[in-house]
Amino acid sequence: MGPLWGIDLGGTKIEGVILEDRDHPRVLQRTRISTEAHKGYHHIVKRITQLIEVMTTETGLKPHTLGIGTPGTVDPLLGTMKNCNTTALNGRMLKEDLEDILQFSIKIANDANCFAVAEATMGAVPERLPQAEVVFGVIMGTGVGGGVVVNGKAIRGRQGIGGEWGHNFLHESGGDCYCGKVGCVEQVIAGPALERFYASITGIPRPLKEIMQRYHQGKDDVAIQTVNRLIEFFGKGIAHVINILDPDAIVLGGGLGNIDLLYTRGVEEVAKHVFNHTLDTVFLKPKLGDSAGVFGAALL
Ligand SMILES: [Zn+2]
Repeated sequence: MGPLWGIDLGGTKIEGVILEDRDHPRVLQRTRISTEAHKGYHHIVKRITQLIEVMTTETGLKPHTLGIGTPGTVDPLLGTMKNCNTTALNGRMLKEDLEDILQFSIKIANDANCFAVAEATMGAVPERLPQAEVVFGVIMGTGVGGGVVVNGKAIRGRQGIGGEWGHNFLHESGGDCYCGKVGCVEQVIAGPALERFYASITGIPRPLKEIMQRYHQGKDDVAIQTVNRLIEFFGKGIAHVINILDPDAIVLGGGLGNIDLLYTRGVEEVAKHVFNHTLDTVFLKPKLGDSAGVFGAALL
C-alpha cells in the first residue's frame, strides 16, 4: 500500500506527515507551516499544495492519495465545508479544488474523528484493549467534540455529525450556545464554560488550571463547586453516549483529558447514570498527544 500521507489543517498551522504504512506507522517525514488563513480561501489551498511540494522534495516520495483533518467537516450532501472555525473554508469545495490541482483523490474528515481513529488504531486503545471494536474519542478543551470509530473506521454519519455529543442538550444552566441551541454539553463542561461558571459566582475570572489547583488545596468553595459541576455533568453527558453506543473504550482527549479526577470520580459518576449495574467501559488517556490529529488524517 505504501506510505500514508496526512495533513492536519488548523487555523494557525498546517502540519503534514508521511507514515511508513498502516502496520508500521513510523514517521518518515513531518513538516509544519503557517496557514495564513487571514489571506483567504485560495491562499489556504495554495499553502496546502506548497506543503506537499516541500514534503515531496525532501523525501523523494510522491503521494497517491491524501487524508486531511479539519476543524469542521464536509457536508455529505453538498460536498462543501461546514462548521469550520477557519471560516474562510466554510461553503467551499475544498476536496474538489485540491483534487483539481493535485490530480489524486483526497479524503477530508473532522479533526475529532482523526483523533479518535488515531488513538483507536495506533494510540491508547490497542495497547490496553486490542480486541476493542467500538471506540469513542472525546475532545474536551475549549470546545467539546468527539468521534465514533468502529473497527478502525470513523463513522461520519448521514449529516457528517457522527460523534458530536458536545451539542447534545445537557442542562439549561449552560445557557445559549453559538450553535443556536441552549444548554449544550459544550456550554456546561468545556473549559471556558467552567471558567464562566466560576467567575459568575466569585466575580473573579480564573483559568481552569488555577481553579483545579484551588480545588485540590480545598480552601476555595467555588472551585470545589466548579469541579463538582464538571464531574456531575461529565457523568451525565458521557452516560448518554454509552447508553447509545456502548463503546469498548473511551479516550479522553483535549485539555480536560489531563484531569485525573475524570478517570476516578468522573467514571464513578458515569456509572450512576448508565443503564447497567456495572460500568465496564474502559476510560483511557490519549497516547499520541499533539500527533493524533495528523496521524489520524494519514490513516483516512
Ligand atoms: Zn451547541
